[in-house]
Amino acid sequence: PLLPVFDAFVIGEGEEVIVEMLELMKRWKGAERERKLKGLNEIQGVWVPQLGRKRVERRWVEELNEKNHPVKQIVPNIEVIHDRFTIEVSRGCTRGCRFCQAGYIYRPVRERSIQEIIDIASEGLQFTGWDELSLLSFSLSDHTGFPDFIIGLKESFPDISISLSSIRGDAISDEIAEVMGRGRKTTITIAPEAGTERLRNIINKDIKDDDIFRSLEIANRYGWNHMKLYFMVGLPGETEEDVIGISRLLNRISGRIKYLNVRISPFVPRPFTPFEYTPQEGIEDLKRKKSFIFKNLKARNVNVKFRSPEVAFIEGILTRGDEAVFHLIEKAWRKGLTHQAWGEHFDFTEWERIVEETGIDVARIIEGGSRHWDNIDCGVGEKYLRVEMKKAERGIITPDCITGCTGCLACPGDPEVYRKAGEYVSVRVKKKKEKMLYRITYRKKSPFYSHMDCIRAVVRGIRRSGVKPVMTEGYNPRPRMHFSPALPLDFTSEEEFLYIHVYGDIKKIPVPDFIEIRNIEEAEKVVSYPYAVYGLTVDNFDEDRLKQVEDVCIINSKDGYIEVVVPSNRSVKRLFEKINIRIIQGRRIGWRREP
Ligand code: SF4
Repeated sequence: PLLPVFDAFVIGEGEEVIVEMLELMKRWKGAERERKLKGLNEIQGVWVPQLGRKRVERRWVEELNEKNHPVKQIVPNIEVIHDRFTIEVSRGCTRGCRFCQAGYIYRPVRERSIQEIIDIASEGLQFTGWDELSLLSFSLSDHTGFPDFIIGLKESFPDISISLSSIRGDAISDEIAEVMGRGRKTTITIAPEAGTERLRNIINKDIKDDDIFRSLEIANRYGWNHMKLYFMVGLPGETEEDVIGISRLLNRISGRIKYLNVRISPFVPRPFTPFEYTPQEGIEDLKRKKSFIFKNLKARNVNVKFRSPEVAFIEGILTRGDEAVFHLIEKAWRKGLTHQAWGEHFDFTEWERIVEETGIDVARIIEGGSRHWDNIDCGVGEKYLRVEMKKAERGIITPDCITGCTGCLACPGDPEVYRKAGEYVSVRVKKKKEKMLYRITYRKKSPFYSHMDCIRAVVRGIRRSGVKPVMTEGYNPRPRMHFSPALPLDFTSEEEFLYIHVYGDIKKIPVPDFIEIRNIEEAEKVVSYPYAVYGLTVDNFDEDRLKQVEDVCIINSKDGYIEVVVPSNRSVKRLFEKINIRIIQGRRIGWRREP
């Protein structure tokens, strides 16, 4: 669908081809646009559609190594989702789940060695100051160095919590649960995808119900109480039994774990998979299945989210549509349909209207029309996909090619070549330095960051300076620290303090621009101040009204600007709200022992 807008497409993985493209653009700086486009079109994996349809062979990197992994990752100043350092431990998957496009187009599996993973973590954590690591992989437990690299990371960075992107239900062992259980607990995620083993055979997802229950048991034993499960509905060959199977499975699981989050998505068939021609289930049928699942769900502690069938319908059009679909996209955009992946912005009625106006035959796309992407060679042969489709119809599993090549043609046929976990030699944990208590004083320069954003930034800065915080005990270890009482979000401050127990000397703390470190000093004990001093600009100042508030003591006032002393445990904003005086600008100036 994006053919009419882009000058050039890169098919495949970018690490190497981006360098070739940039070199060409540099070499031909100032040359005519046509010449550059022609040059780009000659690079393997690059396609310039205006120069005609050509066969494009995807690009892929044969080796993942430290050189092609980003270490200096961007650290957000505020808390965001995925607020952690991410390491891609492997790429590709050879399990062959028949619905999964990524599983086919990223073949073969390539691994980083255990030592590389540890080295990247070491450099990245030091650079960013993050206290959480996320290990990215299609199927973490399929890495031949699993769980050794997790053991290695835990031994090397005992205070860092590790989030595992996806572990197969049959891969959680006592050993791995024990290692993971030592730090902060994250959620265990399992993707059975279908409610019954019969349907899992059709989609080639070789997970048994028993595997899920065994993992649950182990997770429970080691103190996990959050689990996330992923399912799909509308899969090829699905029957009512399979749909009700989802509810039954959840009913059985729910009593065995405290928090169970479930995500159910309508299946959208994708190009370059065995299901690329299959029809997508209609909206009404999906809705019927949704209510069927909820009707049969007895469990109470399950939080089920069902992805909108209407959104899936539009996704289906964009996924398998040809260039004509671009008119639909353009029209939708012109009508202001942006942020359509967000439920509150999605407007299906408007989409239906646009489909009618453009006259595009969306039914043909949803039904699985032509294979108009066949000039793209994504590695896996088309014949192989057809054979897989036939096997799906008969419910025959294709084994993971790590046990023997199944002939998909994505690599020269020896998956071992790209698997290079190596040995993990246990590191002796270095003796920790002496414990120290520090008092850090800082200025909060911007009103747009929260109190916790500041604390996080200072603690990250301490880690970045190479000093490790002392952690609390228990299931969710945190840095052992005490900080000044919360400051309202829109206030600045001249003097905030943070006491933190660390191993070693803090000399300098690198922090983002919205903070300025004013002082770093060793402290004997934590000292707290019962009173805080604020400088406030207010728009309807009334001294008499203010004097009625017992807890506020005015020390200065001039032309709408006042300085007041307030008990540290009281919210200055709330006190002023009560007497109807509006604070336009607020700043914490300092601390006092007496009012
Ligand atoms: S060619 Fe064989 S070994 Fe290589 S990814 Fe395909 S099935 Fe696996």
